[in-house]
Amino acid sequence: MATGSTHTFVCPECRRSFEVDDEMRETLLESGCVVCGAPVVEGDLETSTTAE
Ligand SMILES: [Zn+2]
Repeated sequence: MATGSTHTFVCPECRRSFEVDDEMRETLLESGCVVCGAPVVEGDLETSTTAE
């Protein structure tokens, strides 16, 4: 089990996608997209688990 998962965020507004950690995920949900400021919902964040 990995400690600390990463999430892939794809902005519905500006279409930027980048990997975020748990902390950044919370920030996005609270403050919106860091690029364009669009509101972020949980559906915009995809949890990715790396086996290694
Ligand atoms: Zn954006």
